[in-house]
Amino acid sequence: MTAPTRVAAPVLPDDLSVWPASTGRRPDGDLTVGGVPLATLAQRFGTPAYVLDESEVRSRCRTYRAAFPEVLYAAKAFLCRAMVRWVEEEGLGLDVCSAGELSLALSAGFPPERIVLHGNAKSPSDIETALTAGVGRIVVDSPAEIARIAALLGPDGRQDVLVRVVPGVAAGGHEKIRTGTDDQKFGLSITDGSAQHAVARVLGQPQLRLRGLHCHIGSQITEVEPYLLAVRRTVGLMARIRDTHRVTLTQLDLGGGHGVPYRPGDPALDLTALARRVREELTASCAAARLPVPRLTVEPGRAIAAPAGVALYRVLAVKRTARTLFVAVDGGMSDNPRPALYGARYAPRLIGRRPVAEAVTATVVGRHCEAGDVLAADITLPGDVRPGDLLAVPVAGAYQASMASAYNLVGRPPVVAVDRGRARLLVRRETQEDLQSRDVGPR
Ligand SMILES: *Cc1c(COP(=O)(O)O)cnc(C)c1O
Repeated sequence: MTAPTRVAAPVLPDDLSVWPASTGRRPDGDLTVGGVPLATLAQRFGTPAYVLDESEVRSRCRTYRAAFPEVLYAAKAFLCRAMVRWVEEEGLGLDVCSAGELSLALSAGFPPERIVLHGNAKSPSDIETALTAGVGRIVVDSPAEIARIAALLGPDGRQDVLVRVVPGVAAGGHEKIRTGTDDQKFGLSITDGSAQHAVARVLGQPQLRLRGLHCHIGSQITEVEPYLLAVRRTVGLMARIRDTHRVTLTQLDLGGGHGVPYRPGDPALDLTALARRVREELTASCAAARLPVPRLTVEPGRAIAAPAGVALYRVLAVKRTARTLFVAVDGGMSDNPRPALYGARYAPRLIGRRPVAEAVTATVVGRHCEAGDVLAADITLPGDVRPGDLLAVPVAGAYQASMASAYNLVGRPPVVAVDRGRARLLVRRETQEDLQSRDVGPR
């Protein structure tokens, strides 16, 4: 008897390579992360929930600190006050994209001089909040904001800035996260002269101190070469700026975008190779252009947060159609829009009990009112998967909580930190009261 959904392997593969380093197997079939059984966390904090392994975050921060002269954590990947503290304690700076991210960082006591403000369309409030706080650098991304920042600074104000340039490099895991090519909204093109023009305008504003160039070529990049090309193009521009304006820039911020594996066997960016080859390329390009080597900055978001997170769900329904076994869980696109946005693929695993049936192919879907609310299509689960079971999804620490929405008014999941056998709530679950509190209409 062979059901169409049954796969060849009778035993479930149980490769934990994309899970946090602290992950352990328990005899009862459950997994522990940070020394805490995941089923216990589901029981205590409810589902869906995001679990964040503090030591995984910290050790990733340390690996970056050892490899690069300056590291800014990209807050948009995931931010809460505890995360701000960890990043601060590990000696990283912070890259923020809005007054909201900036205010949260400041509320946790992050030193403003270690903060960099980004954004292709910064609002007056973004700029004002940044200037009032005294952020270290602002990355100029459009001609319009140059005069705006200068005006808000007043005649005696001073602000360090970088200019974000587009080096014309195509890289990144999906079209929607490629930002190094000419025809997209970020940065100022080197090819068409917009970058050079913006540099001239910044240099014309005495309040703005141009420290260097910035570029961010995309996200989920697993190759080193695009970064080397970006180094060559930005150093080329630095040489032209020196020739035209007699100004020597001292900083080069290469942005983030470092890819991580989401499923066993996915390609990964080799961080050590990236650091070494970027350093070599920078030294060689600067020598050829007779420029001093600028200080290198990187801005990883995903590579620090994603592998430290695990999402927990409870199975609510199991449905078999002619072609597919659907396993519906109590979350979905409101807590993880990445599969719907970018076709991101995940590898959920049954936790909390030992499976007794053979592996089958299944599709994990969410509870939202869209057929596209698919968390993981065509994955392997035990054939006896049933309502009440728990599923855990690794590599859930970035661009999930931060992109979560109020769709269907389900309420956003809590974030729970685990470390050395202890669990603590970092962000509580969004309640019906939270959701209704902004509605000022009649009751
Ligand atoms: C999103 C972003 C990052 C971080 O990208 P990851 O892919 O998460 O590493 C860094 N810098 C800038 C300017 C960004 O927009």
